[in-house]
Amino acid sequence: MKYEIAWIKGDGIGPEISEAALKVLEAIEKGFNVSFDVKFYLAGDDCLNITGKALPEETVEGIRRAHATIKGPVGETAADVIVKLRQMFDLYANIRPAKNYPGLNAIKDIDLIIVRENTEGLYKGFEYEFDGKAIGIRVITERASRRIAREAAKLALQRKKKVTIVHKANVLRKTCGLFRRVARDELSKYPEIEVNEMYVDAASMALIRNPESFDIILTTNMFGDILSDEAAQVAGGLGMAASGNIGEDMALFEPVHGSAPDIAGKGIANPYSMILSLKMMFEWLANRHNDKELLNVSKILESKIVEALKKGIKTPDLGGSYRTIDIGSRLYDLILGSG
Ligand code: ATP
Repeated sequence: MKYEIAWIKGDGIGPEISEAALKVLEAIEKGFNVSFDVKFYLAGDDCLNITGKALPEETVEGIRRAHATIKGPVGETAADVIVKLRQMFDLYANIRPAKNYPGLNAIKDIDLIIVRENTEGLYKGFEYEFDGKAIGIRVITERASRRIAREAAKLALQRKKKVTIVHKANVLRKTCGLFRRVARDELSKYPEIEVNEMYVDAASMALIRNPESFDIILTTNMFGDILSDEAAQVAGGLGMAASGNIGEDMALFEPVHGSAPDIAGKGIANPYSMILSLKMMFEWLANRHNDKELLNVSKILESKIVEALKKGIKTPDLGGSYRTIDIGSRLYDLILGSG
């Protein structure tokens, strides 16, 4: 089967890390019996400057039509692009793995997945300003809390069967109170899963003190956003952090980090975040279409990334001296067995 992929390169380092990831995709198509039809679309700050819109209709339609989407980071227009897309396509689960691969300067051993509710909470965008006051409304619904808890359960069953619900229900009694109650209720349907809970402030400390104690962290939108950057740093840096925005029938994969304007255009950005996003996409497509070859490809890609890191094929943020595009080229060779 030929998969149609909508690809948004984004702003800042987005085009550079895309180029490296596309090199990897090229090797995979060459080396395995899988095939992709990549269609490029614009979104973000540069797109706003060129077309007058941060998220043009053509891009939205392209994403709707594709089997899956890969998106690079966007800059100042993130709220008009990714936050909008998550709500527009109801991509309710944000899946953010944090894993320390060999050869990285990880703070501690970590192998967890943050399952973040992706459509509501404080990021719903209900903000008002008047009379010297600014007010934001936090929306937490039973429906969204239940389905994200179900997603956490699904992942936990494939792993260590342990879910930690992270909230702040002692202060945010109604919103976090509902999230905690519904999550507990949903998870009680899976007696084989060990469920515990933690306040978000304690969780942020525990992520540094004993990250190995976590398996699945289930949490609300903003807490998940913040904790996933922290977890990424524990694992060895933002440049290794990939994520999936998953809905019922659609999914969009992207690096966790932003457009990194401070290093854009220098050719030193770490593309592993984008390449690992590709790996997550393969896995999702494979499971969805029962494609064993593609599932195998996702495992091989991960093993090649490990091999590359062990060989010291790293960008400066990881202590290496490779340039962005060279990571793509070296992986290309490793995948095709000539590296
Ligand atoms: P934005 O406003 O788009 O979110 P930002 O600079 O505020 O951008 P990030 O882009 O997430 O936030 O970057 C935070 C820091 O991490 C920056 O110093 C950036 O250079 C670094 N960084 C982020 N991604 C990468 C990467 N892929 N490779 C190397 N360094 C990175």
